[in-house]
Amino acid sequence: MNLISIPAYQDNYIWVLSQNDGKCLIVDPGEAAPVLTAIAQFGWQPEAILLTHHHNDHVGGVKELLQKYPALPVYGPQETANKGANHVVNEGDKIKLLGYEFTVIATPGHTLGHICYFSHPYLFCGDTMFSGGCGRLFEGTADQMYQSFSKLNALPEDTLICCAHEYTLSNLTFSLSILPHDPDLNEYYRKVKELRAKNHITLPTTLAEERKINVFLRTQDIDIIKAISKETTLQQPEQRFAWLRAMKDKF
Ligand SMILES: [Zn+2]
Repeated sequence: MNLISIPAYQDNYIWVLSQNDGKCLIVDPGEAAPVLTAIAQFGWQPEAILLTHHHNDHVGGVKELLQKYPALPVYGPQETANKGANHVVNEGDKIKLLGYEFTVIATPGHTLGHICYFSHPYLFCGDTMFSGGCGRLFEGTADQMYQSFSKLNALPEDTLICCAHEYTLSNLTFSLSILPHDPDLNEYYRKVKELRAKNHITLPTTLAEERKINVFLRTQDIDIIKAISKETTLQQPEQRFAWLRAMKDKF
């Protein structure tokens, strides 16, 4: 399998998983034009579209792609049914595509119906987990997002986190405001800064890396507990998660 990212809008990535024979899956095509260009360039034959949630920068290209490929199955949560999804999927559903089995993981928080797709080692997680960060809570609660993160954190450590935005640098800038002396964070920040200076992608990341540098996965970490305790006393990891998300909103 080949994993390719197509940049879209300001900072979106449309992920494509393709086989050597050209058959491919397209994840969250927020725009059709860059996808159609890549299809022509690489000679792909789309097998399916996977949608994580209903926001336009993830589904905006679906209708145009369906005009070109009317028989294409489009998988997505119920909230994407009016955005072109013709196969509504739910938590625990298994989808066989390109000979691989994808498991649907419900991850409410960013939106209430948000789902991720996992087929080892690939995780398409939309706007749930970002490198060094977590999605904004547009519809769900911090507690829901914490539970969603816990589910993703239970996946194997070599899982490739294919998230939908290039937010890594700003996430790390925020994280360093919480943990300015953290060696892993500082090293990763330097690496990411170099990549972004050349306009290179910082994704996919791995779950193993995220466990080190993503403060939203480190709510049990003594350094995070100490940093937060300077500001407020929070006993539970989900409270620290909510505090971090609220601080990021203000950052
Ligand atoms: Zn979104």
